[in-house]
Amino acid sequence: MPIKRSGGKALDSSLLDLVIQTAPDAIITIDDAAAILSFSPAAERMFGYSEDELLGQNVSILMAEPHRSSHDHYMARYFKTGERRIIGIGREVRALRRSGETFVAELAVGELNRDGQHIFTGFIRDVSDRVEAERRAARLQRMLDRVSRIQALGEMSTALAHEINQPLSAISSFSRATARILAQTPPDTETARDQLGRIAHEAQRAGKILQRMRKLVERGKSDFRPEDLNSLVREAVALCRIGPDYSGFRVQYDLADDLPKVNVDRVQIQQVIVNLVRNAAEAVADDLDGDVHIATDLTHPTETLTVRAGRMLGDEVMVTIGDAGPGIPPEIVNKLFDPFVTTKERGLGIGLAVCRTIIESHGGRIWADTNTQGGADFHFALPSAES
Ligand code: ADP
Repeated sequence: MPIKRSGGKALDSSLLDLVIQTAPDAIITIDDAAAILSFSPAAERMFGYSEDELLGQNVSILMAEPHRSSHDHYMARYFKTGERRIIGIGREVRALRRSGETFVAELAVGELNRDGQHIFTGFIRDVSDRVEAERRAARLQRMLDRVSRIQALGEMSTALAHEINQPLSAISSFSRATARILAQTPPDTETARDQLGRIAHEAQRAGKILQRMRKLVERGKSDFRPEDLNSLVREAVALCRIGPDYSGFRVQYDLADDLPKVNVDRVQIQQVIVNLVRNAAEAVADDLDGDVHIATDLTHPTETLTVRAGRMLGDEVMVTIGDAGPGIPPEIVNKLFDPFVTTKERGLGIGLAVCRTIIESHGGRIWADTNTQGGADFHFALPSAES
């Protein structure tokens, strides 16, 4: 039955009471001495006190330090200056349950001035789950950043070893030459000095190469740039071949050529593609006689392993990596992207969680479904750089 508007005060207050009793957020009112006037049922559940216990108590009992000790001072300052630091603004605060546990809460404060008496209303929402999820995601992201840099380092180590070998052999031959020059009578000190200068220069070059390696493994910030997704896909698939377990498959590319650029951290998106392609390769490993099919035609039938890239509605670019393996095990479908979910004997279950963290930090989406061949299709969509 629709609630009728009424000018009647009695109905107003019972309506208000209904709102307070049923609101999912905790609602607390205090007077100008910070004494609690009312404490809603949601507040009772959130803080673990009953209303009776708290009526008349100073509201700072619900706050964690440093706000607990400073709250009276905050109120005095407000009455003195009229400056609003929280009223009508809202902020995240650390609140304190009866059990002593603290939690992050969103607090919004309203003020009512009735016959010269101030009444403050606090609306409090427990956001600790969200904050914890954000913290976990940030931790995973940092870990991934490091993992992908270390992995990149591993992949580059052969090239770097080669690079560092050059200054080292130069140093060695310059040293031998210098020794010969100094053994002459009389020694050609001018040329020897010149050779020593070259040795110093080569040693510095080797040092710079090492510095570059170190920078690579240091935790770095994400480096977002407009990138061509097709070339990212090609490079990532090439990276997949590194390592003896994955070197055997053949790849057929079929990438759409009209794709807009995407604003991404190259290393991170390649990490996603590497993870998905390796998973797909593992899924088809039993009946795969060395064939991986990479295409961008969205209607192309999946053969063994397909990587597709195409434009979606709404300015998104989508990449699909599909395979004709056994499909996603039904028992993990709902938690596929959660950390530590694995059905592999030696799996870590971190790959897809990392993929999700990366894609979401790029403002994109990642999901999986079953294709017509009963294998798995993993898709991710990223906003185009134009959007
Ligand atoms: P891991 O590979 O270490 O198990 P992932 O997070 O990469 O960790 O994958 C989690 C699980 O998802 C795998 O153990 C597997 O059961 C399932 N999975 C991932 N990719 C595929 C795929 N292409 N086909 C079937 N199942 C897959």
